[in-house]
Amino acid sequence: MTENTPPRSHLTNLKHWLCQPMDPDAGANEKSERIDWLRTIPFMMLHVGCLSVFFVGWSWLAVTIAVFLYALRVFTLTGFYHRYFSHRSFKCWRIIQFVFGAIGCMSVQRGPLWWAAHHRHHHQHSDDPEDLHSPRQKGIFWSHMLWFLTPRAQYTNLRLIPDFAKFPELRFLDRFDLLPPAVLSLVLYGFGELIAWGAPEAGVTGLQLLVWGMLISTIAVYHVTYLVNSATHLIGSRRYQTKDDSKNSLVVALLTFGEGWHNNHHYYPNSTRQGFFWWEIDITYYGLRFMQMLGLVWDLKSVPKRILVPKVKPAVQPIPVEATPIAVQ
Ligand SMILES: [Zn+2]
Ligand SMILES: [Zn+2]
Repeated sequence: MTENTPPRSHLTNLKHWLCQPMDPDAGANEKSERIDWLRTIPFMMLHVGCLSVFFVGWSWLAVTIAVFLYALRVFTLTGFYHRYFSHRSFKCWRIIQFVFGAIGCMSVQRGPLWWAAHHRHHHQHSDDPEDLHSPRQKGIFWSHMLWFLTPRAQYTNLRLIPDFAKFPELRFLDRFDLLPPAVLSLVLYGFGELIAWGAPEAGVTGLQLLVWGMLISTIAVYHVTYLVNSATHLIGSRRYQTKDDSKNSLVVALLTFGEGWHNNHHYYPNSTRQGFFWWEIDITYYGLRFMQMLGLVWDLKSVPKRILVPKVKPAVQPIPVEATPIAVQ
């Protein structure tokens, strides 16, 4: 925000939050990196709400739904929000991009245009002072979960994502990104109440499905996604020399279905697969290959052979040895 621009009122912030403006210049001057405490309230409430599991209890159905929604949304974030919307590493039908855009919104990590525009910015500025979520610049907690609670991160820079912003249905998702999670919550609650009415012996209630499916599962999706911005710029191994601190991490790769091969990805972001070798498990890539077999997506981009050839280490300079005469036998 420039010095002459007055700060937006809380009411305007709230309005823009619930209904994201689609003006490319809406957030152009918004540079403030103070934490917007109004935005932290629902974020904290989602976390605290998980404790209500002690009141609603559990059932096999609730746990299965939580695991299923975790898997579906992590796959959607990695496969579509990241590898499709951010990097265009494959192609798909327009209906597929909309459906997975809507499922992505159910992760409550904003719309596909917001997510991908911010990610493209990350690749342009990774770990330099302009990067919005660099642990090198502002520490682990900032990179993990504080950066998106600031006015600077609130708006979608549509200039970074004109290729997808041209689709009105994606602009709709970005504008009303809270609609899909609201619908999912209603469906979960209604389904649980229906079971409670029809089969009370199952021990399932609407609130129970809501807590497991929308609170516990969403918080798990949150933090594994955030690990890619925090942990994989801090901990792990580096195969490639990149200008940033990106690392490869098997643990993060397993939790995020393949995003832990972050050093590979920063070195060559165009590839659909991020585990470059067969032993680098990349569940999202296997899922996308399966979708390709079904004809839902196509033109998955592969890793060029030259990238896969291990770099030859610089020849070790021989240590100068004093010319010691060798006694000839
Ligand atoms: Zn990164
Ligand atoms: Zn990326």
